[in-house]
Amino acid sequence: MAATILVVEDEPAIQELVACNLELAGHRALRAESAEQAMSMVRDELPDLIVLDWMLPGINGVEFARRLRSDKRTQAVPLIMLTARAEEQDKLVGLETGADDYITKPFSPRELNARVKALLRRRSPQATDDVIEIAGLRLDPGSHRVTGNGAPLQLGPTEFRLLHFFMTHAERVYSRVQLLDHVWGDHVFVEERTVDVHIRRLRKALEPSDHDGLVQTVRSSGYRFSTG
Ligand code: CA
Repeated sequence: MAATILVVEDEPAIQELVACNLELAGHRALRAESAEQAMSMVRDELPDLIVLDWMLPGINGVEFARRLRSDKRTQAVPLIMLTARAEEQDKLVGLETGADDYITKPFSPRELNARVKALLRRRSPQATDDVIEIAGLRLDPGSHRVTGNGAPLQLGPTEFRLLHFFMTHAERVYSRVQLLDHVWGDHVFVEERTVDVHIRRLRKALEPSDHDGLVQTVRSSGYRFSTG
């Protein structure tokens, strides 16, 4: 499971430890040493998960978490709070500000990886390798294979990511901007109509097994993957 994970930590040694550890686990790690830097990175690219240090110079971790949660674009990004403070009260504050999980320093790389994996599974299923099957359409992220009623379907890499996102978020409507955020990640230089192009290609790829109808256009809103 390869996810893009933003590590926000001002202590270089710990930042490097966390980031390298995530990279060893197969993830792509982005590094920021302050909330301010992290905010500008998040504006460019929405990560699959954020590991956030509580004690940061300038805007601290709790305040940054609040800001992430109050912005519609970033409110659903899974968040693990890192802290040196083990007090129960602090843990509560951390979770109340919107952190999904909480790790106390010092922690073992194994523990961090286990927490990241569990949280991704819970909140970002499109960043995991779990095989998913809906209405005869089967997508295997590990082998990058898609089959419709057992027969192989040919998808380009973008169409594959798009379908993976749709299948792990079925029955929900996503705007073009949201799809750019979730599927393209870095969308600063990508136009919204690019989404339409790839939706067309995806439908075409799903035609042989009659699954193209699962990708639905929702007028003036965007797209939805639905069996209904
Ligand atoms: Ca710190």
